[in-house]
Amino acid sequence: TERTFIAVKPDGVQRGIYPEVLRRFTQRGFKLVAIKLTLADESLLRKHYADLQDKPFFPSLLSYMKSGPVLATVWEGKDVVKQGRSMLGATNPLNSAPGTIRGDFALDTGRNIIHGSDSVENAKKEIGLWFKPEELV
Ligand code: ATP
Ligand code: MG
Repeated sequence: TERTFIAVKPDGVQRGIYPEVLRRFTQRGFKLVAIKLTLADESLLRKHYADLQDKPFFPSLLSYMKSGPVLATVWEGKDVVKQGRSMLGATNPLNSAPGTIRGDFALDTGRNIIHGSDSVENAKKEIGLWFKPEELV
């Protein structure tokens, strides 16, 4: 079955939104297969956001993602990559519908509380970056 990588970013952890994220994915019917609270180091973040390294906001994205612990999770289930992205909402929370995680809990693109893999291929890459194989149940 399909898997995706979902990470509650430091502001989502600090603001206590992570239980709501776990609740929503669990109650939708997805299966949690890995979870850990972790401080992301710069080399991991540079690999994770390699596609964005030339963007003007990249340095602030790195400091945002290093500002506190991240709750890294892997979820399994039918169409979970696409369904997960739709549960997150748009990159800019102001464009996210009510009922989505960003649409309910965030206002700023630079503080959008959660990450989700955008393709099955990137999900595999990200799961491999954030987790060792033995950390997946
Ligand atoms: P994520 O990869 O975190 O799930 P996304 O796929 O919706 O988000 P990306 O284009 O991959 O969006 O950007 C990654 C992250 O970089 C965004 O979630 C946001 O935190 C930050 N970001 C993107 N665009 C901007 C911007 N214009 N200004 C500030 N931060 C930005
Ligand atoms: Mg992305």
